[in-house]
Amino acid sequence: MPLVVPHSRNDSAWGSVRIPVAVIRNGDGPTALLVAGNHGDEYEGQIALRNLAHSLDPADVTGTVIVLPGLNHPAVRAAARCSPIDGGNMNRSFPGRPDGGITAMIAHYVATVLVPRADLVLDLHSGGRTLDFVPFAATHRLADKALEARAIAAVEAFAAPVGVVMLELDAEGMLDTWVEGLGKLFVTTELAGGGSSTVRSNGIAARGVRNILKHMGILGGAPDIERPSRMMDMPDERCFVAAEHFGIHEPLVDLGDEVAEGQPIARIHFVDEPAREPAVYAARRSGLLIGRHFPGLVQSGDFLASVAVDL
Ligand code: CA
Repeated sequence: MPLVVPHSRNDSAWGSVRIPVAVIRNGDGPTALLVAGNHGDEYEGQIALRNLAHSLDPADVTGTVIVLPGLNHPAVRAAARCSPIDGGNMNRSFPGRPDGGITAMIAHYVATVLVPRADLVLDLHSGGRTLDFVPFAATHRLADKALEARAIAAVEAFAAPVGVVMLELDAEGMLDTWVEGLGKLFVTTELAGGGSSTVRSNGIAARGVRNILKHMGILGGAPDIERPSRMMDMPDERCFVAAEHFGIHEPLVDLGDEVAEGQPIARIHFVDEPAREPAVYAARRSGLLIGRHFPGLVQSGDFLASVAVDL
């Protein structure tokens, strides 16, 4: 049975939007809320959670696993970041509204019904069609230092190649912010991008999800950690580089490369002014290039690259 959100419209007077959900419960234990498809064009989490819902044996579970593999279902169907129905960006819509548009109504149900039941929320993101990342799991700097330490331990248990204490430039309305504000354990990810997935990135997601359930004691055994995550920090906004021009994006370094402060990392070529020298963008910090703009064209104001430093 899906979550059913009423959607009365011209082509379906008594219509609805059906959000897929699975609940696997066995005995007394913690509750994990696993989310993917918060943005519809990010695939590793959607694949990992659909596979988990099909394969998880209730006999192996102690506690409850709530699986939402395609939270913004209209956006998933459209292969889009935001909802084609109301334009809603799910991860800027929390805690939502019961009387808002479809996106706000879905957010409100998650925020007020599901999150309060959860001991941990895992929200699986990737770069989608416009971003690409070194695969990482992440938490944030939190005022509650005990909660921050527990979140960093959960990030380490996920065991992606990199773990990041992430800086958000636009945290208002995110599921992250809502869950952390309630004092609950929250882990997010950025697992590659470009609007598709690979065997490698899907493997990182699948293992990470089971590792989180083991870390919580919901599945038995210790997390499967082949190699510990390289733990990294994003101390300030100099970790980000934004584009100030429109044009063709020429990367000068690749994801996973070490960069030095001041080192050129990208150029933007002026499409309509071929005689003009391309604009050069430099790293504003030394560290590891963990994120980049994905499409070949870039607009003024777009995110261009991000750098993380060792924790
Ligand atoms: Ca995302």
